[in-house]
Amino acid sequence: MAPNPYDWIEKSLETIHRADWYRSVQPLAGRPGPVVMVEGQPLINFASNDYLGLAGDERLVQAAIAATQALGTGTTGSRLLSGHRDLHRDLEQAIARLKQTEDAVVFSSGYLANVGAIAALVGARDLILSDQYNHSSIRSGARLSGATVLDYRHNSLDDLADLLQQHRSQHRRCLIVTDTVFSMDGDLCPLPGILALAETHEAMVLVDEAHGTGVMGDRGAGGVEHLGCSGRSLIQMGTLSKALGSLGGYVAGSAPLVDYLRNRAATWIYTTGLTPADTGAAIAALDLVEREPQRRQRLWQNVAFLQQAIADLAAQERSPFQLLPSESPILCLQVADPATAIAFSQDLRRQGLWVSAVRPPTVPTSRLRLTVMATHEPAHLEKLVFALGHL
Ligand SMILES: *Cc1c(COP(=O)(O)O)cnc(C)c1O
Repeated sequence: MAPNPYDWIEKSLETIHRADWYRSVQPLAGRPGPVVMVEGQPLINFASNDYLGLAGDERLVQAAIAATQALGTGTTGSRLLSGHRDLHRDLEQAIARLKQTEDAVVFSSGYLANVGAIAALVGARDLILSDQYNHSSIRSGARLSGATVLDYRHNSLDDLADLLQQHRSQHRRCLIVTDTVFSMDGDLCPLPGILALAETHEAMVLVDEAHGTGVMGDRGAGGVEHLGCSGRSLIQMGTLSKALGSLGGYVAGSAPLVDYLRNRAATWIYTTGLTPADTGAAIAALDLVEREPQRRQRLWQNVAFLQQAIADLAAQERSPFQLLPSESPILCLQVADPATAIAFSQDLRRQGLWVSAVRPPTVPTSRLRLTVMATHEPAHLEKLVFALGHL
């Protein structure tokens, strides 16, 4: 028999299984919220990115229905051809208003926003300096750009300064890229220091606000606002799919930057415009971010309660976990090894709590990762603390 050129796929899957790296999907029934139905079991949800509890909000659902009724299900083409609607501009202007930037452009996902923006901003003659813990979409964009890519140690201004000193002069343009809120740790980037270095070395800065938008800052504008850097020249990328409960990504910044991306970002030019449903839901979410600051207040009260309660547990003798430093609604409990992380996650699940186990190679050390929501009730949080105290 002729050799089958697809045989390697099953072998590769076996290897993934053997390394305990195999991943599978979890079917969630009904609308997302602080309590979700997973395989027939109600679980208190500490595993979503729905920080404000908007993904299941009736007003977003109605906005998506209204936009679909008016404009149909698909946009039928690229924004530059038949796929542009006034609703897209409304959304882009709402993002620019929240971010206090001149303009914004929406992509079909945050992943595509990073890939398209980074590959459009730098090329073979240029340099990218990237935090070692940056999101996968930043890495993909950096590779695709053809630029020289150097990782700096997580949140290390010293390492970033050294790399700029050593390498900046050999390159035409330089782009420093960082998450504002790190998705697998919950800590924040040292943005004022990064901007100061960028100024000295004539470098552009792109921040990924995926976990910051709607959550951080007095107005919910994001990590840039929280870190006191609103109005500085930098490029802000983010997603509509986390606190905003919809789907899509964006880049916000100066008018020339956004105009340039509309002409040069391949992942914007050669893909279909955002659906009316996603666009309408995101506009409704941005409206609620502005009009319901009490959601953000609830979220931060919940974060403060859990931070304190978990810190108290972790301080006890023989605590099986250590609370990693966090300044966001992402709280991580570091444990001894991958097997412990999985066992704890399963134990919590049996008690009706949905908490993710995150393991290498995604992160350097195994941990339980939990995300807090504005719509968690005190009883939800107390049940979690009780269960964590008995692990
Ligand atoms: C989720 C995420 C993205 C990708 O956003 P999507 O809209 O889900 O594609 C990009 N960067 C970070 C840091 C993220 O957490």
